[in-house]
Amino acid sequence: MIATDIQENSARYLMNTYARLSLVIERGQGCLVYDAEGREYLDCVAGIAVNILGHAHPDIVEAISRQARQLIHTSNLFYTEPQTQLAERLVRHSFADKVFLCNSGTEANEAAIKLARRYSIKTFGPERIEILTMLGSFHGRTLASLTATGQPALQEGFGPLVPGFRYTTFNDLDKIEAALTPQTAAIMLEPIQAEGGVIVPDVHYMKNIRRLCTERKILLIFDEVQTGMGRTGTLFAYEQFGIQPDIMTLAKGLGGGIPIGACLATDTVAAAFEPGTHASTFGGNPLACAAALKVLDLLIEGGKLEQGRAAGEYLAKCLATLSQQFSCIQETRGMGLLQGLDLSIDGKPIVMECLERRVLINCTMGRVLRFMPPFIISNAQIDRLLSVLSEIFSKRK
Ligand SMILES: *Cc1c(COP(=O)(O)O)cnc(C)c1O
Repeated sequence: MIATDIQENSARYLMNTYARLSLVIERGQGCLVYDAEGREYLDCVAGIAVNILGHAHPDIVEAISRQARQLIHTSNLFYTEPQTQLAERLVRHSFADKVFLCNSGTEANEAAIKLARRYSIKTFGPERIEILTMLGSFHGRTLASLTATGQPALQEGFGPLVPGFRYTTFNDLDKIEAALTPQTAAIMLEPIQAEGGVIVPDVHYMKNIRRLCTERKILLIFDEVQTGMGRTGTLFAYEQFGIQPDIMTLAKGLGGGIPIGACLATDTVAAAFEPGTHASTFGGNPLACAAALKVLDLLIEGGKLEQGRAAGEYLAKCLATLSQQFSCIQETRGMGLLQGLDLSIDGKPIVMECLERRVLINCTMGRVLRFMPPFIISNAQIDRLLSVLSEIFSKRK
């Protein structure tokens, strides 16, 4: 099928939920993707922070292929070794004691919300079910995670939403304190609001939220679906703030491209789940777990975490230099390989012009350019991104 037919048939047969760029990607290798005509694009979107080790990483391909030949799926009526190994490794490298495996970010957040409610109801009684989340947050598209998402525009037309959620202002401790009630069971937030415009909170704010939660016996849930798995330069973003949550969710980078999500918690909290309280048919299947195990292996033993951290420092430095040259760049912010340029102009046309110059970037919140390339991006590739951006901004002054 030629590219225009693929696009026409997509419109004909797929529900119209995505505003896609006019590009059909046929294959990928490292930080590059190719269309059917063989044109090469530098991929600084990486499947929305998913392909953390790039495309077609030989070790991941090998791990998936081997597992596919051996066993793809069994359901959770039985034990499988990759699932147990993955849980053990996640526990070993995080604050958590227990893991629940699922298939996506929104599902990981549903698990976190259910776990928080159940723990709170069991511990403090049936009244204490409220979850406080942040305006501008993004937690997913299923009903509870959509309700948790503090963006009224995304919730419109889907009511009634799930009861028991309240919203407050991100990075404002007084507002958070004021929003707490005797019914508050948990505070849920992203360590960096990624979809919300790459908003990095204050270290003191984060430490104070942890203190508030501990003092008032409120659970702290970190949605690390985007910030986790080394994206910010440490394996998990909470490490950067010197605090630990009680529950954490992961997905995006976890499987290096294979769908998998995880909800992690301390033993005390996780004990609220018993057999029959939560489940997933596909969750933790051997294929996805084999992929995630290889990803963790490459990050930790294979040095890819350090490589990503170094690339992130170089990218941040280059973007800071760029922002000094062009007045339409209001701010550059981010951590590691999650970087944003806050513009005073519309970001969409910039994304289109980058595409014309064969560089894939993303724009969120209308005017924040977001960069989330694979950890294996080279300085030369970052230079290519920067020269394309510089060329585009030069035309605008
Ligand atoms: C992408 C994202 C989600 C949703 O993940 P899906 O896999 O699309 O369901 C949730 N939270 C955050 C912070 C995300 O970036």
